[in-house]
Amino acid sequence: MDEDVTPIRQQYLDIKRQYPNAILFFRLGDFYETFDEDAEIASRELEIVLTSRNVAKGVRIPMAGIPYHAVENYLARLIEKGYHVAICEQVGEQPARGLFPREVVRVVTPGTVVEPGLLPGDRNNFLVSLVLQEDQAGLAVVDISTGEFTATELSGPEMPSALRGELIRLNPAEVLLPDNLENSLDLPGHPTRWPAWRFEPGRCTETLLRHFAVSTLDGFGLRGKGMAVRACGALLQYLQDTQPAALTLLVSLSTYSLSEFMTLDAATRRNLELTETIRSGTVSGSLLSILDRTISPMGRRLMRQWVSKPLLDLPAIQSRQDGVQALVENGMLRAELRARLKPLADLARLTNRVLAGHANPRDLVAIRTTLNAVPTVLAVFPSEITPLQAILCEIDPCAAQLELLEQALADDPPATLQNSGIIRPGFSADLDHIIESSRHAREWIANLENVERQRTGIKTLKVGYNKVFGYFIEVSRANADSVPSDYIRKQTLVNAERYITPEMKEYETLVLNAEERIHELEVRLFRQVCTQLAAASPRLLAAARGLAHLDVLAALAETAALNGYVRPQLTPDPILDIRDCRHPVVEHSLSGVRFVPNDAVFEPGEIVRLITGPNMSGKSTFLRQVALVVLMAQMGSFVPASSALIGLVDRIFTRIGAQDEIHAGQSTFMVEMIETANILNHATPRSLLILDEVGRGTSTYDGVSIAWAVVEYIHNHPELRARTLFATHYHELTQLSDLLPGVRNYNVAVSESGGQVIFLHKIIPGGADRSYGIHVAQLAGLPRPVILRADEILRQLEASSGKAVKINPNLPQQMALFPETNPLLNDLREIDLNTLSPIEALNRLYEWQKKY
Ligand code: ADP
Repeated sequence: MDEDVTPIRQQYLDIKRQYPNAILFFRLGDFYETFDEDAEIASRELEIVLTSRNVAKGVRIPMAGIPYHAVENYLARLIEKGYHVAICEQVGEQPARGLFPREVVRVVTPGTVVEPGLLPGDRNNFLVSLVLQEDQAGLAVVDISTGEFTATELSGPEMPSALRGELIRLNPAEVLLPDNLENSLDLPGHPTRWPAWRFEPGRCTETLLRHFAVSTLDGFGLRGKGMAVRACGALLQYLQDTQPAALTLLVSLSTYSLSEFMTLDAATRRNLELTETIRSGTVSGSLLSILDRTISPMGRRLMRQWVSKPLLDLPAIQSRQDGVQALVENGMLRAELRARLKPLADLARLTNRVLAGHANPRDLVAIRTTLNAVPTVLAVFPSEITPLQAILCEIDPCAAQLELLEQALADDPPATLQNSGIIRPGFSADLDHIIESSRHAREWIANLENVERQRTGIKTLKVGYNKVFGYFIEVSRANADSVPSDYIRKQTLVNAERYITPEMKEYETLVLNAEERIHELEVRLFRQVCTQLAAASPRLLAAARGLAHLDVLAALAETAALNGYVRPQLTPDPILDIRDCRHPVVEHSLSGVRFVPNDAVFEPGEIVRLITGPNMSGKSTFLRQVALVVLMAQMGSFVPASSALIGLVDRIFTRIGAQDEIHAGQSTFMVEMIETANILNHATPRSLLILDEVGRGTSTYDGVSIAWAVVEYIHNHPELRARTLFATHYHELTQLSDLLPGVRNYNVAVSESGGQVIFLHKIIPGGADRSYGIHVAQLAGLPRPVILRADEILRQLEASSGKAVKINPNLPQQMALFPETNPLLNDLREIDLNTLSPIEALNRLYEWQKKY
């Protein structure tokens, strides 16, 4: 017991002690108050006034409060900054003496938010739990707003990069980690460090068994997956502490393997701008922005998942394609379906709000509206079997639940449970009875004045109301003798007497109590409806999943139809045959210029396609569009091409110039080399490699050498030989096609006439012979004298060094980038460095400079 503090301060301190790492929002009447250090943080982060309060004789402590009705907005800002907020409410009845009992009802953290206003509608809000041990990792993923709960394990030398890739894909709001894990991990999401003993295997297994009330975890696919069990168990314990209501939502758990999906490392996701652009970090301009024509919030979340997780399983891809095709081919059906999807609200999240006990009357209205729309959605489809039949079967119209909501819920109920008018008349005889008798009592009292005037003959008789006596009958003193015998005198005023009658008091009680009873009964009925809906949650959630699926297929079909995409054909063989391929994003961003389609057709035996060409001619665009088309094909989408035959790709790797990036402590070249190393170490013969300007970050000779060796390695290494598109502006590399049978040269066509150079963006066979760098400088607006001077220097350089560097194919390492006949090189070789003095070296340099 802390000495001499006020009782409420003591209550606060007792509670705060249990939540040292959260900001405690302490409910005091209409405010949540924060104290001490919490108040200082809240005042600073939320820009609210810091005041102080006396808590003991002569002791004042900092305090900052926010009105309870505005809590969401303030919570959002604290969560955004990574804080945890413990919400402490007044619970139960106010005692006759002493303090309100108070307790923390939940701890809001970035990954445990359920307030609709704080959740982005278009994406999941994942809370991830992670355990690491040597080269093994266990990962559990939960979205408590939708009830999705999954887990996976990763192992082997590739684990760190695979884990990072998976975390980037999930983009979690919060990552739960044991507190003894090294600090050096650079993970997306807010890290929450938690006692390591919470991740212990025995405790975690026990938690899971108890939560799911099962005797073995095998049914969840967790047999032999100790790391995943630990991650899941810790996650459940964390929810028990922070958000106990959410536990009821987690009714099942599934495991997944990263091998079911195309592997996309973090750099590739970024480079291909799948869900956000590199430059601005927004969805607009990403692949997702082109594909996402979904209509419902659940559809939007699923589309994001599909874009992030292309499949590897041929039948699964084909079944998605069949769905898209059915909707592409029948435009009327598609339009009708999309129109009927419009009224759908976020059924998944709404159902989970019901399950967690957070639902308000408007949430149930939204469920009712959605269920009302479901039969109309299903009715769009003709009765014969379509490829969509399996999905349609999944969508349970939940007729009983709809009927319940239609009967129970008023047309336009209030937003919160504080107000009455929630339940529809006719649903509960008890409620109707109370409402009816309350109305009758009001009418009775309203008529009382007239009735009594007639009965008594006293014209000036009045019926009034005050807080002390309630309703009364007032008669002037002069008429006091004529009042009937059932009047009971209650109060004497100067000129009048006030009476009551027993009957009148009965009606008064009815009126005054009715409000409260109506409210109580409505809340009770509302909760009963919620309990009934919660019992049907698996059906509601299945319907939500099916509707999301339909929405995504219809969106892909709409995009395909509007943009002229075709259905790609997929095969297990390592083929790449894409005709008239276009970049799905760039083709929309060219103002007034037509996008030039290009073929990406690998001949049999072709492994590396080298594309030379000037800067700005369209090499990067081509490389990326091929990668995007493959990715779109494997997510089930149609593609921007006139035809496409694609051998399933297990991974797409990209190494694309990182000019815009600032890498803490690493040079751009170092990053480039790390990414290249990652590719060479992990690519398989089923991978697709996109290499753009490898070696650009260093000097020309270094750059050419590295690029050369990389191509050789990809081509020759028996465990690699992956389909590769390699763009470069080093023409020296074109010689590789003479040496390696699987290398083909292509270049970007340029038209030159009358000194004018035009990039045609057409990729044609053959190597480029010029770089047109000066032309690009001119396009960029460099002053004319600089251009002319640069041209002059170029000509001099070309004249003095002869032709471009020739590589000697016979050198075993093929690193001989200097022409063998170069006299400077001969001079250099002849020097004995052991005897050369510094002065002699300088003299030699001086001579060479003059001579060469
Ligand atoms: P590079 O990689 O050769 O430097 P980019 O691929 O960055 O060139 O392309 C430069 C610009 O050329 C792009 O921003 C785009 O506007 C335009 N472009 C590229 N490919 C095409 C194409 N096939 N058709 C029309 N314009 C294109």
